[in-house]
Amino acid sequence: MAKILKGAPVAAALNEQTAQQARALAARGVTPTLAIVRLGARSDALSYEQGAVKRCQQVGVAVRHVALPELTPPFAFFAALKALNDDPAVHGILLLRPLPEQIDAQAARCAIAPEKDVDGCTDGSLAGVFTNAALGFPPCTARAALEVLDYYGIDPMGKRAAVVGRSLVVGRPAAMLLLHRGATVTLCHSRTRELPAVLRESELILVCAGQLRLVGAAHLRAGQTVLDAGIHWCEAEGRLCGDVDFAAAERVVDAISPAPGGLGSVTTSVLARHVVEAALRRSEN
Ligand code: NAP
Repeated sequence: MAKILKGAPVAAALNEQTAQQARALAARGVTPTLAIVRLGARSDALSYEQGAVKRCQQVGVAVRHVALPELTPPFAFFAALKALNDDPAVHGILLLRPLPEQIDAQAARCAIAPEKDVDGCTDGSLAGVFTNAALGFPPCTARAALEVLDYYGIDPMGKRAAVVGRSLVVGRPAAMLLLHRGATVTLCHSRTRELPAVLRESELILVCAGQLRLVGAAHLRAGQTVLDAGIHWCEAEGRLCGDVDFAAAERVVDAISPAPGGLGSVTTSVLARHVVEAALRRSEN
């Protein structure tokens, strides 16, 4: 049976370090602060916001809520973002998505100052991920994957890794982070031929394809570590499931992160960590 790479202990260790850094900043008169910008009140946005607020409170990060009406005109929305960019008391900005249709999503993504982009959505942050520079921050789920590996002592150095999914929010940045850590990375997507064969060649697999149980026993073998970023409501079973067929995979591979209870439980801890890192970077300049 595989070792189960649970997210909770990873999050707890990260939270402890983050809280320590936040206390050190507070002693110097700096309160790390996250602004959460929401348009309207979609239930998925509200629930992510609640999770982020709870985590921030736990580690000493203050939260400023910027709740705008769903029909906010673009000029007012971009003015609100600019005010947060210009406010020295705000260290990080989280813009909850999806945005209503009157807001140009691409323009909104890049309207956040990269040094406050704790969610890793701007081109500046992605450039930082690509060049391995401290410019902006990686997307939280991509970094969460690396935090899980580090916590469980699984070193990507020299390993053959495969990432399934090439989105800018998860797959592509995670592939870059693995590359910077010395893995030889294959980036798979919907046009990849013979995915089972490609995955069986890999020692480390991150699945972030948004497809319920895309990866199963046919893709896997002994000796592998599998991380599952997927999260789906499985109607037939009345519960959440991942992109990996967990029951089949855990019988085959060496180590696997569950979904739920894996990477997802680490994401808000990474977010809070980024806010504190943003405040630290500012205080050092
Ligand atoms: P996404 O934007 O829909 O991207 C999915 C990626 O998977 C695409 O690159 C797609 O390939 C690839 N793909 C789809 N079907 C495939 C197949 N049959 N074989 C191989 N590759 C396939 O999804 P996402 O936002 O990256 O999210 C991926 C998963 O992570 C979801 O389950 C989501 O719930 C979870 N997640 C997302 C976030 C987030 O912030 N978005 C955060 C945490 C977890 P093409 O590019 O060729 O279409």
